[in-house]
Amino acid sequence: MKNNYLCPKCRAELKIKDYIIFSAETEKGIKGIILLSPKLGDYTIIHDDNFKYEEGEHIDFFCPVCRSSLAIPEVNKDLAEVIMIDEKNVEYKIVFSEIAGKKCTIKIKDQNIIEAFGEDADEYQNFWGVGPRY
Ligand SMILES: [Zn+2]
Repeated sequence: MKNNYLCPKCRAELKIKDYIIFSAETEKGIKGIILLSPKLGDYTIIHDDNFKYEEGEHIDFFCPVCRSSLAIPEVNKDLAEVIMIDEKNVEYKIVFSEIAGKKCTIKIKDQNIIEAFGEDADEYQNFWGVGPRY
């Protein structure tokens, strides 16, 4: 997997080795580091045992470099995004759910959905195309 993942705000590289690294905070205010797979559609999540949350809980995702929120409340309060640059140097937005256990990843180019991953993706796809403009 040669894709790179960047913070949309500071464009720092978020992928180190085989994981994308985020700073995160749960609804109860627990702060920690979350590692996600850079493989789209792979919902492996790695975190410390002390970073506890419930299924269905909203987790805020932040850039670990500039601390900016990755949320996109203008689209939906439960979605966040990062930039992906693929091996052909094409840039996409990768939108994902901030709800623990929700499997939803949407790959976007020029406001169009290129690919969607995860069994919950259908819930969110109408924000692009037919839905409110992104
Ligand atoms: Zn950043």
